[in-house]
Amino acid sequence: MISVDEARSQILKEISTVDTEVVSLDQALGRVLTEDVLARRTQPPSHMSAMDGFAVKSSDTQTIPAKLKIIGEAPAGGSYNGMVKVGETVRIFTGGPLPEGTDSIVIQEDTNLGEDSQQNEYVEIREITPVGHYVRPAGLDFTEGAVGLKANRRLSARDIGLLAAMNVPWVTVRRRPRIALLSTGDELVRPGEPVGHNQIISSNSLLVAALIQQTGGEAIDLGIAKDNEDSLRQMAAGAQSADMLVTLGGASVGDHDLVQSVLGKEGLSIDFWRIAMRPGKPLMSGDLNGTPMLGMPGNPVSSMICSFLFLIPAIDALLGLPPRLPPLSPAIISHSVKENDQREDYLRARITGEDGGLPIVELFEKQDSSMLSPLADADCLVLRSPSASALTAQSRVMIIKLRAAYPDV
Ligand code: AMP
Ligand code: MG
Repeated sequence: MISVDEARSQILKEISTVDTEVVSLDQALGRVLTEDVLARRTQPPSHMSAMDGFAVKSSDTQTIPAKLKIIGEAPAGGSYNGMVKVGETVRIFTGGPLPEGTDSIVIQEDTNLGEDSQQNEYVEIREITPVGHYVRPAGLDFTEGAVGLKANRRLSARDIGLLAAMNVPWVTVRRRPRIALLSTGDELVRPGEPVGHNQIISSNSLLVAALIQQTGGEAIDLGIAKDNEDSLRQMAAGAQSADMLVTLGGASVGDHDLVQSVLGKEGLSIDFWRIAMRPGKPLMSGDLNGTPMLGMPGNPVSSMICSFLFLIPAIDALLGLPPRLPPLSPAIISHSVKENDQREDYLRARITGEDGGLPIVELFEKQDSSMLSPLADADCLVLRSPSASALTAQSRVMIIKLRAAYPDV
């Protein structure tokens, strides 16, 4: 049996980056940029007001109160086109361009409006206003031609806002890696289908598909193969155009575990089979006629943890990104734990409180890898290294916080 780290390096060695496509911004969330993106305009395009008020010459406000004649308006999207002379001002609104001759804004709250005897509108300024007050200078945010976002960045909602402001309507991104998912097992039926007494509902393909989607891939559900050679062979053929094939179940040593033997006849060459971890020991990795293949065991918790440790990093690599590993952080365990055997162990646990800034964790009593309800309820996985010694209550452990693991995806 090889270690988790060795297994991951072997899987990643076989991965090559997928090609690119152009998508419009409304399709760009979570996609990976493949080129630096330059701003296609300067923002703001000219000096603009940050407030509602009056555009003034700062020098006109040095003695207060100052009485200035209102000679026009500069609303957002419009402009005052004349030159503002000494003793004059222009009423301005947030986002309005600063008229020529002005260099500062007096906010509305610091003024009184009035009319003189010739019914000219004027404003009385009550505050001394320095140059540039409430002015957003041209190019404050970005300038045309500047690099706004760099290549190899997974686009967030904020990035999309920036791209839109830079007047970039579409971007070149990595194609979504296509991950073909093949479930195996005579006992499985899809959710909602008629189900016999001894059958179970196939949950893995949906769980893993959701993780693939969250990571930026596209899951192609090839369906459920029966535990016989013909069915498995025919259904695996659907993986031809995929960037990776993931089989679920049928990876162990039982008479009905056919993935390795059947796909072996179809051209599967195996890099490794079985790793020193729990759950997930029968994981296999190989290559099916040029398509990287990951064979996961069928228990749902095994599929989830194998996805975390191997599939998500593989999708990152397909996207040309550095593969992310589940982030580990320290915690305190509230009870004793027995020593570990030679397999790296990932135990489902709840966070029950906090002690000196560290979360307190409690393992679920039942750690059966078929159980989905504790998996859904778990806040974290507690990692136990191979051959780790027994722990007393209040010992430090390392955990993977499940909700925080990939917040940006
Ligand atoms: P296997 O790896 O095929 O030996 O399956 C191990 C266990 O996982 C068995 O109890 C299966 O019934 C169960 N299992 C296999 N595939 C799935 C699936 N797609 N969804 C839920 N459970 C599964
Ligand atoms: Mg099976």
